[in-house]
Amino acid sequence: MKNLNIFLLGICLASLSYAVAPTGRYKTIYDQMVAFETQNPSLAKVFSIGANDDGVEMYAIRISTSPQTMDKSKIGQFLVATHHGNEGGSTVLAVEFMKDLLNRYKSDELWKGKLGDTEWTILPVLNISGYNANNRYEHGNDPNRDYPGPCTNSGFGKLKSVRNLINFLGVRSFAGSVTTHGYVGNFTYPWGFYTDNNKTLDDNKYREMFHKIADINGYSFGNSGDAIYPANGCYEDFVYWKHGSWSLLVELLNGSTNDVASTVPAISEFFNLIDSTPSSKNQFQANCTYHRGADLRRE
Ligand SMILES: [Zn+2]
Repeated sequence: MKNLNIFLLGICLASLSYAVAPTGRYKTIYDQMVAFETQNPSLAKVFSIGANDDGVEMYAIRISTSPQTMDKSKIGQFLVATHHGNEGGSTVLAVEFMKDLLNRYKSDELWKGKLGDTEWTILPVLNISGYNANNRYEHGNDPNRDYPGPCTNSGFGKLKSVRNLINFLGVRSFAGSVTTHGYVGNFTYPWGFYTDNNKTLDDNKYREMFHKIADINGYSFGNSGDAIYPANGCYEDFVYWKHGSWSLLVELLNGSTNDVASTVPAISEFFNLIDSTPSSKNQFQANCTYHRGADLRRE
């Protein structure tokens, strides 16, 4: 009996310390974030939003003038990349955005007043195993069909990565949200799911802002459902519907160095143009419709 107790205690301790270190391509991204923190300890802090289904911590970076702890009094801004593991350009875009942001904090005194009021969180890889395997899916599921929404009442949250992000988004307010994909060459805004009216109450405002954003790098822009095609359970709709965060989805054109470099300032302009608080007109007021092929692939 005593041996059994020791054995059980061993199992408990082993499970408590269970954590899988970053490996493969993901480790390269993690190491890059740690380097940003090491080089800019007063501006950047790497932290985990939780472990995924494989026990791997999902690392994000917080960039602000007080990065050691979350400051809810600052304006929250959020960027998530790599829902789809085979869209590596979207990951590069997130890293380049971090780099550009840190440079702005360090180099441009004029930015500091505005940036000083803002707290950025960037999660470069949501789908870690997919990223390491260059696979769109995570454990056979499409992470960007795994969110609840006004027309998705069940069957969501299968992935712990998505549940972790849903929880994190509830911890503080985020005025704006960017999610990055590839490869189409456009910027889109909600609604993107199956409905008889995909125009939000903010449609005019979205259209006006996105016109300016798309002018910067020459992408096309529009409502997600119109510009690509509808899909249910997507992050970009969830974050606007649930939290009112101004929501931009970028589909990189091809993920080349030039493509990424010209898209970083467009995304910065999005964060610059939006209100400093989430929308209060994010309610869904139309009807859900269900088409055959509602699970159609969308990039
Ligand atoms: Zn994608």
